Amino acid sequence: MARIISVANQKGGVGKTTTTVNLGSCLAYMGQKVLLVDMDAQGNATSGMGIRKPDVEQDIYDVLVNEVPIADAILPSSRENLDIVPATLQLAGAEIELTSMMARESRLKTALSELHANYDFILIDCPPSLGHLTINAFTASDAILIPVQCEYYALEGLSQLLNTVRLVQKHFNPSLEIEGVLLTMFDARTNLGAEVVEEVRRYFQEKVYDTVIPRNVRLSEAPSHGLSIVDYDIRSKGAEVYQALAKEVLAREK
Ligand code: ADP
Ligand code: MG
Repeated sequence: MARIISVANQKGGVGKTTTTVNLGSCLAYMGQKVLLVDMDAQGNATSGMGIRKPDVEQDIYDVLVNEVPIADAILPSSRENLDIVPATLQLAGAEIELTSMMARESRLKTALSELHANYDFILIDCPPSLGHLTINAFTASDAILIPVQCEYYALEGLSQLLNTVRLVQKHFNPSLEIEGVLLTMFDARTNLGAEVVEEVRRYFQEKVYDTVIPRNVRLSEAPSHGLSIVDYDIRSKGAEVYQALAKEVLAREK
């Protein structure tokens, strides 16, 4: 059975896509079968994996709105064990189109149910909002991984996110859990970074991963080459920390 994890935070720029792509590629590097699902119309996970938009025939929009079988939308990546369901700009329309559709919250869940036997992990890169796409991701997931950027307003907005989690638990998915909270873009040169780490650990306690992701320029360069950190620079600090995170995710599984 695949474990399905949504990477979510309605704030933009906190490291959701970086985490989805690099955690996924590290799990694949460690021998797990991984599927990435791009649920953001920006398609950053898609392009970050080296997939060119014109080469996409069917995307997650076609799966959610046109009920195309998800198997028809899966593309292999250049890394063994790692596949992706891409997103393109047409996904932006889904937020409104889903409003009037039957079973609008459970469309992704239904689509993914065909794939449980094919993967060890399915990681969903969520958009920076708490709309229908995120609700679909939460309804389909076993757990949510929340990246939190080490900055002054780190905890701001998280009560809204947790409220959405509770609503989905109540109405659509009672077994949904918080997988973990990941501190990202840590800068050891500032006191602020350390204060934020402490504050987030006080609030989320043992849910916070021991691994803290520092700012690392290799992590920000890799997507423009269409590569995950594993294939761009396996010796970088970024590759080291995302491998450490992958080990923690595997350990929590057991
Ligand atoms: P989100 O998906 O939450 O909007 P991204 O993962 O796209 O966030 O990250 C936002 C920007 O910050 C991107 O340009 C990304 O390359 C960069 N970034 C993310 N994590 C790191 C990091 N640890 N070190 C340096 N740059 C990072
Ligand atoms: Mg993103």
